[in-house]
Amino acid sequence: MVRSIPAAAPSLGAEERDAVDRVLRSGMLAQGPEVAAFEQEFAAIVGGRTVVAVNSGTSGLHLALLAMGIGPGDEVIVPSFSFAATANAVALVGATPVFADIEPEHFCLDPAAAAAVVTPRTAAIMPVHLYGHPAAMDELNALATRHGLAVIEDACQAHAAALHGTPVGAFGKTAVFSLYPTKNMTSGEGGMVVADDPAVVRKLRLLRNQGMEKRYDNEIVGFNNRMTDLHAAIGRVQLGKLAGWTARRQANAAFLDANLAGADVVTPPVAAGATHVYHQYTVRVTEDAFAGGRDGFAERLAERGVGSGVYYPVPIHRLPSFRLDLDLPETERAAREVLSLPVHPQLSDADLKTVAEAVAGK
Ligand SMILES: *Cc1c(COP(=O)(O)O)cnc(C)c1O
Repeated sequence: MVRSIPAAAPSLGAEERDAVDRVLRSGMLAQGPEVAAFEQEFAAIVGGRTVVAVNSGTSGLHLALLAMGIGPGDEVIVPSFSFAATANAVALVGATPVFADIEPEHFCLDPAAAAAVVTPRTAAIMPVHLYGHPAAMDELNALATRHGLAVIEDACQAHAAALHGTPVGAFGKTAVFSLYPTKNMTSGEGGMVVADDPAVVRKLRLLRNQGMEKRYDNEIVGFNNRMTDLHAAIGRVQLGKLAGWTARRQANAAFLDANLAGADVVTPPVAAGATHVYHQYTVRVTEDAFAGGRDGFAERLAERGVGSGVYYPVPIHRLPSFRLDLDLPETERAAREVLSLPVHPQLSDADLKTVAEAVAGK
């Protein structure tokens, strides 16, 4: 059996094991000093804003919406071309996700499409920095200002991405990062909510911990969405490696850009002023360019020992959980054509060559 190059691979080493061991030996496993330190350290990649650690990116999106007072009767504009959690969080607070189409270059929320679905009930816009490429925040923030809407960034795939030098996480009223194992850095499971309004920060902390600031003095009805010190200890080690990994992802992407010219795929362009962190390196495979279409192309790669992934084959609005009849042509086309190639920092130079040759059909 030939070794297959995986589409994603978390990197966990001796430092992560030592960090977990340090917490185990301390005997204090729940949210404590490691979480506090992790929140402080994570602020460095979001322009110094306040960070509230939670137990997943999904919890983070859920609490961010609640902390901003979004609920029943409100509409939140989201892309349908994302992971289901983006829209689920909106539905979970009793608000209505309103799906808008994406722009075809970077697969992110199209500001014009978002503008077209604003109504008097629209409370917020939730752009997703999909695949690690920042959404069009200048236009989306302008739209939000024009209509008095809040912006919540779903930055779950975009740790350390930036636009015109401003890091993602520093654009919206709140922003949320995921620390799931396949993301650019992990804590096992976890999420980071970023905010700068002290009232929102306080509400996030209350909601995370049973509505308590002072023990047994529960002010509001809250959740247990705390991160453990075990997870935070892993996350702190990974945060220290993020810059190196990101540079590696970018170098790998540059290699693929240079070596896939002329192949049957459309390589991912980067917007002017954008720093893409390549959570995924996602190409388009059109029916015209490759007879078997995207799925046939993925099979050809698999035969050559190259893993790939489709994120996401079914737009959220068509999932059984939502099942809406909407006309989102760029979303539908992306769902048919996208294929993510290995770009993660564990790839060797030989792996990269194998990926490029497999894509070229060699
Ligand atoms: C991973 C992800 C989430 C959810 O994060 P979890 O930590 O898995 O709950 C939300 N939105 C997007 C775009 C994601 O990629």
